[in-house]
Amino acid sequence: MSDEEREQREKLVRFGALLYERRLAHGSAGNLSVRLGDGAILVTPTNSSLGFLEPDRISKVAPTGELLAGDPPSKEAFFHLAVYEERPAAKAIVHLHSTHAVALSCLCHERDDDVLPPLTAYGVMRVGRLPLLRYFRPGDRALAEAVREAAKRHHAMLLANHGPIVAGRTLEEAVHAYEELEETAKVFFLLGERKASPLSFEAIAELNRAFSS
Ligand SMILES: [Zn+2]
Repeated sequence: MSDEEREQREKLVRFGALLYERRLAHGSAGNLSVRLGDGAILVTPTNSSLGFLEPDRISKVAPTGELLAGDPPSKEAFFHLAVYEERPAAKAIVHLHSTHAVALSCLCHERDDDVLPPLTAYGVMRVGRLPLLRYFRPGDRALAEAVREAAKRHHAMLLANHGPIVAGRTLEEAVHAYEELEETAKVFFLLGERKASPLSFEAIAELNRAFSS
């Protein structure tokens, strides 16, 4: 096993425990993945709890999904593979069923192309526009196609009545963006029916100019 793979396996264990302790992951819900330099993907195993991962049992799969090492991968690994295929710069993906983000995914939205208001600069910078993908039953392979389509333009997306998928250039970046999404959703619900003052179109354009990479 390469040093890179060993390091990334340990990192998945650490971040899994962190997300579990922060109650962003519960039971055996949610999955994390990392793409290695050789293109293989490390993904959390099926029925594993993110709070209690073991480095050597983490699944290693080929970009086609074939198991190369470790336990069988999460049943949701197929949509991680679709995002990696569509976004060459993505090196890590976080998918959780955290409370506020899931609540947001269960609302009726006027527009499905952007369901999280631009309330704060960090929300805009880390999450950006958040499209809502329609509901699919767990394991439905048609979800991979919908995810692939959304991943062409978005590193973060929300699955209806399910939860978000967030990609990043590193596991840290994907986790931070996921946490920003969850916190922004929490703020959105705290504001409730009160009239909020989201960032203006100009403010968002300025952020995109200043921080786009
Ligand atoms: Zn899920």
